[in-house]
Amino acid sequence: MRIVLLGAPGAGKGTVAKSLTEFDGSVQISTGDILRNAVKAGSELGKKAKGYMERGELVPDDLIMDIMEVRMKEPDCQKGFLLDGFPRTIPQAEALKKLLDKIGMKLDAAINLDVPTDVILDRLTTRRTCSNPDCQEIYNVKSNPPTADGKCRKCGTDVIQRADETEEAIGNRLKTYQDKTAPLIVYYEKAGLLKNFLSLNSRETVENVKIALKGA
Ligand SMILES: [Zn+2]
Repeated sequence: MRIVLLGAPGAGKGTVAKSLTEFDGSVQISTGDILRNAVKAGSELGKKAKGYMERGELVPDDLIMDIMEVRMKEPDCQKGFLLDGFPRTIPQAEALKKLLDKIGMKLDAAINLDVPTDVILDRLTTRRTCSNPDCQEIYNVKSNPPTADGKCRKCGTDVIQRADETEEAIGNRLKTYQDKTAPLIVYYEKAGLLKNFLSLNSRETVENVKIALKGA
């Protein structure tokens, strides 16, 4: 199947994506991964992307689409793909539609993981991470706490709250999502592709998505 996966930061897209690709043999495509791979492979497009990344600039949409076209034509995408974290904006969704038309493919569904904001805030603000770059073990102050004095149970290093996981930072990330990405839900609904799932538990969500896709 060819799927776009939508959902706010902290909605559990990564976990759901992994289970779904195992289920139907499709490949997970994230823009971060395909950009890094193109840079590593040293292709012409990769060299262009590297320039932007080294200058700390956003890679322009048309370059992302060119790299995505190459990726989608690779043999392992024949069974389908699942786009994770892309498109993020309406112009990107329109560019994606144009690309798929050009290479003779079409989307089967846009899956939206709908998680209430207070659940997301609670999930992300309770996360802690081991500050040892070689470890980076993830903890949760409620369900999986570090030691009583705040050390990593694996390596003994201090466990910290990441700067992008404070309540303020998450509030900003959610606002960006609401402004730029949430309109995609309406976009795909109008296109007749939207499948909406209230997602409070990843495993349950994956089962519901599988059932819905079988009927699609
Ligand atoms: Zn550690």
